[in-house]
Amino acid sequence: MICTKCGAEMDQTDKNTFTGRVIREYECRSCGHSDWQDEGVALWQVLHDAAEQDKAEAAARAAANVAADPQETQPGPPPALSFRQRLTGLFRREK
Ligand SMILES: [Zn+2]
Repeated sequence: MICTKCGAEMDQTDKNTFTGRVIREYECRSCGHSDWQDEGVALWQVLHDAAEQDKAEAAARAAANVAADPQETQPGPPPALSFRQRLTGLFRREK
């Protein structure tokens, strides 16, 4: 970054991303003038937004699956219980 006061190359003194945007701070070694530059959206903010979008899409997919096939999300009875239920059913039918 070039100093707006004396035209010298400025040194970067700080970089802040806490606002969700990359803000670089510069200071001129020649005249002491300090300035800052907005570098755009910070990487962590982009990743955060992408993660939020993934979560929303996963939730939407899960909701769609439940609506399409409710059996898939509910585990059936264990085989032993289901076998006993079949026997009980036969026994009841014979009575
Ligand atoms: Zn300067």
